[in-house]
Amino acid sequence: MNETQPEKLDLLGLSQHQMHQALSGLGEKPYRTQQVMKWLHHRDASDIHEMTDISKKLRAHFEVAAEIHEPEVLSEKVSQDGTRKWLMRARSGSAIETVFIPEGARGTLCVSSQVGCVLDCKFCSTGKQGFNSNLTAGEIVGQLRVAERTLRDQFSDRNRAVTNVVLMGMGEPLLNADQVIPAVSIMMDDLGYGISKRKVTISTAGVVPGIRRLKETTDASLAISLHAPNDALRDQLVPINRKYPIAMLLDACRDYAENLGEKRTITIEYILLDGINDQAEHAVELSRLLAGFPCKINLIPFNPYPGTGYKRPSAKNVRFFQEYLVGQGFSTMVRTTRGADIDAACGQLAGQVEDRTRRSERYQRIALSAAVE
Ligand code: SAH
Repeated sequence: MNETQPEKLDLLGLSQHQMHQALSGLGEKPYRTQQVMKWLHHRDASDIHEMTDISKKLRAHFEVAAEIHEPEVLSEKVSQDGTRKWLMRARSGSAIETVFIPEGARGTLCVSSQVGCVLDCKFCSTGKQGFNSNLTAGEIVGQLRVAERTLRDQFSDRNRAVTNVVLMGMGEPLLNADQVIPAVSIMMDDLGYGISKRKVTISTAGVVPGIRRLKETTDASLAISLHAPNDALRDQLVPINRKYPIAMLLDACRDYAENLGEKRTITIEYILLDGINDQAEHAVELSRLLAGFPCKINLIPFNPYPGTGYKRPSAKNVRFFQEYLVGQGFSTMVRTTRGADIDAACGQLAGQVEDRTRRSERYQRIALSAAVE
C-alpha cells in the first residue's frame, strides 16, 4: 500500500492541526498555517511560487520537501440532468470517479476514498473490480478542489458550487480512515472549504472499529449502508456483516450520534433489490429494527450495470416501502437516480481499477485487521 503514499509533504491533505505541527517543526510562526491553507484552498494555488507572502526560506523548503498534488482529470462528462462525472488519475496510476449532483440550491459532490474496494458488497460495481490502493488525504480533498474550480463560473451567484460532500464514491472510507479523517477536517474547516459538519457525510458499509474511532476524531455526519433488516440477509449482501453484525453496528452508530448531540441523526441507506429485500415483510422488519434509533432513511432503487444479476425494484414496491416506513414515523426519502446516462448513478462508479487484490490475497485480511487496531 505504501507505494502510493507521497514521499514529499502532501500539502493539500494536511488538516489545520497537521499543518500547524509541520510548520512549527520548521520554526514558523502560527499565522503561517493560515496563510498556507488559504493559498491552497481559497486561492487555489497550484505552485509553491504563487505563495508570495510566505517567507523565502519556507518557500525554498517547500520547493524541495513539499508538493501540491491533486488528481489529474482524465475526462469529464455532463449528463442531460446537469450531473457531472470526472474520471481522475490517482497516484497509483488507476483512475477514480467523482460525481457532482446539482439539485436546486444544493450541490452534492460524491467523492471517492479508495481505488476499488475490498468489501465485495454483492450489488456494487466498484466491489466487482477488487482493490487497488488507498487515496491520500490530498487526493480526497483534491477532488473537491477540482470540482470547485470547474464549477466556479457556473455557480457564481452562490458562495460555493459544492454545498454538500458525501464519501459515497468508490471505496470504503473507514478502511482508509488515516487519510479520510484529515480530508474531512479540511472540507469542514473555514481555512479549507468551510462546509458545515452536517453537510459532510462519511458513508460506511459497517466497519465498526472505524466508527468507534470517528467519535474521537470528527463530528461529520455518518451514513450506514444497511441494505437488509436481518443478519442472515445482510451476511449475503454486505459480507462485512459476518464480522460486525447489525446489533453491533447500530450500537456503534447510536454511540456516535449521542456523542454529537444537537439532535443529529444517522442516515440509513437501504438499496432496494427486486425480489431480494424489497418485500412488505422486509419493510416491517426494518421498521421494528430501527424503532427508537435516531435516523433518517434513504431508499435507493438499485441501479443496474452490465453483468449484474440484480434488478431494479418495481415502482409499486418502492412506493409501498416508503409509505410503510413514513407511516411508522420514519423520515424516509427515495433517492432519485441522477446521471444514469453517463453511468454516474449510485453504484455505477467503476473508474479504471487495476485490481491488485488477487495478486495479494491476504490483503482483505490485512485491511480489516488494520481497521481494528
Ligand atoms: N463503502 C461505503 C461508501 C460507498 S457508497 C458504503 O458502503 O457506504 C456506496 C453506496 O452506494 C451504498 O450505500 C449503496 O447505497 C450505493 N450503491 C452501491 N451500488 C449501488 C447500485 N448498484 N445501485 C444503487 N446504489 C448503489
